[in-house]
Amino acid sequence: MQLANDPAGILARLAELRAADAPTHGGHVLSYVYDSGLAELDELAAAAIRAVQPVNGLDPTTFTSVAVMEGEVVGFARDLLGGDSDVVGSVTTGGTESCLLAVKTARDLWNASSASATGRPRLLAPVTVHAAFQKAAHYFGLELDLVPVGQDGRVDAATIISRLGPDVALVVVSAPSYPHAALDPIAKVAAAAQAAGIPCHVDACIGGWVLPFWTGLPAWDFRVPGVTSVSADLHKFGYAPKGVSVLLQRGRDRQRAQFFATTRWPGYPVVNPTMLGSKSAGALAAGWAITHALGRDGLAALAQSCERATSALIDVIGSIEGLRVVGDPVGPLIAVATDATAEASAQVDPHHWADQVRAHGWLLQLQPGLAQSDGTVLPHTTHLTITPVTEGVLPELSAALVTAADEVRGIPAVSPADVLGALPAGFALPSGPIDSETALAILAGIGLVSTESGGLPDRMAPFLALVSALPAPLTERLLTELIARVVEPR
Ligand SMILES: *Cc1c(COP(=O)(O)O)cnc(C)c1O
Repeated sequence: MQLANDPAGILARLAELRAADAPTHGGHVLSYVYDSGLAELDELAAAAIRAVQPVNGLDPTTFTSVAVMEGEVVGFARDLLGGDSDVVGSVTTGGTESCLLAVKTARDLWNASSASATGRPRLLAPVTVHAAFQKAAHYFGLELDLVPVGQDGRVDAATIISRLGPDVALVVVSAPSYPHAALDPIAKVAAAAQAAGIPCHVDACIGGWVLPFWTGLPAWDFRVPGVTSVSADLHKFGYAPKGVSVLLQRGRDRQRAQFFATTRWPGYPVVNPTMLGSKSAGALAAGWAITHALGRDGLAALAQSCERATSALIDVIGSIEGLRVVGDPVGPLIAVATDATAEASAQVDPHHWADQVRAHGWLLQLQPGLAQSDGTVLPHTTHLTITPVTEGVLPELSAALVTAADEVRGIPAVSPADVLGALPAGFALPSGPIDSETALAILAGIGLVSTESGGLPDRMAPFLALVSALPAPLTERLLTELIARVVEPR
């Protein structure tokens, strides 16, 4: 048959679209992408994906390559994360799916226990826990109990332990937390949870493949008694393409509660360890190939590069007048806030700084401030994820960080009053639910509808200020509209 369009032309168009993307390699984007700097790993991953392209990961008995690769990846992760032969696991499509499944497992076990007589299950975690756990509580009907953290992003162990109770289906701690790179007090929380018969999940989605090689850390993985599950993303510091993570669980019986199985329909018997049915084996094959190529030593070498670059950047940022590194980062992430002890004229707002750094060609990630349930407020910050390619660009990156700070020093943060004052005259914030057209009109009114490209505005600081200034349900609805419109057919 004759194809409707010539493949070469289609690929040329894709190349054009890709050229407009943020750069995935070279270290200029300090979030989202994890570049090992090893071109042969990318080639290997591409070849592995191609080799399994037609495979359906749904059935590892029909496609036995899937069973072998999954077993080897889980085994590698289990060794790395201090698990013994009692630890089993699954390969999932990403950190969110690993976290969702950890919560679903705990909820189902809790529902089957006598504790369920107490009513609704509760998910207990520091407020810094990844938003995937908010999503899990929402999807699976758990009450979310988020514990405030200190200004350094660290949760007090006694505070979280005091909130353990029979209705807690799962307590979650992070290694480290995404917003501030805080290593939660895992040993203390896990011990208290174990004593109370409550499972404890360690979210090592970002740290799982790099912290095993970080220097000077206390035990945070399956070596810690009471840790019942760990999530670790291969598509972060495992350097695999997106779509692959592992969820390890201590105890076969616990892990079996993760599965969904049914024979009660007139089709094939369904047995799904994870959320999807039919699924690609591509990212699994790529992750599998990369773990074999790097081995422990390769991962260690890449982690050591990350550690050197992180400590160099902590020094650089720490020496910039008006900025400070939040807390004591554990792992290759840094959160940067204003140094409030400096004179106002010497302070650097981290969001103006990030926008200015971007003008110099480096993309940092703006994080909003947060009012916690105890009335304290976590300041807004700028996030950097450091990868193995960072070390090679340290001089240029450091220069951009310093110069950008000089260029915005003394400019006050965008205040809520500024953004609300910029709303069109006579504009009334809706109090209840709004429809898509109203949401679009508000976005247009505040100048946030992305026009042709769907790209971000040049300056993100006012946008983040708006996120903090408006009531959360409204902002969430507006952002939903924004993202939904971005992918609508043009
Ligand atoms: C990235 C991340 C997740 C979620 O992972 P995705 O792969 O983006 O779905 C969960 N927890 C932490 C700590 C993370 O850094």
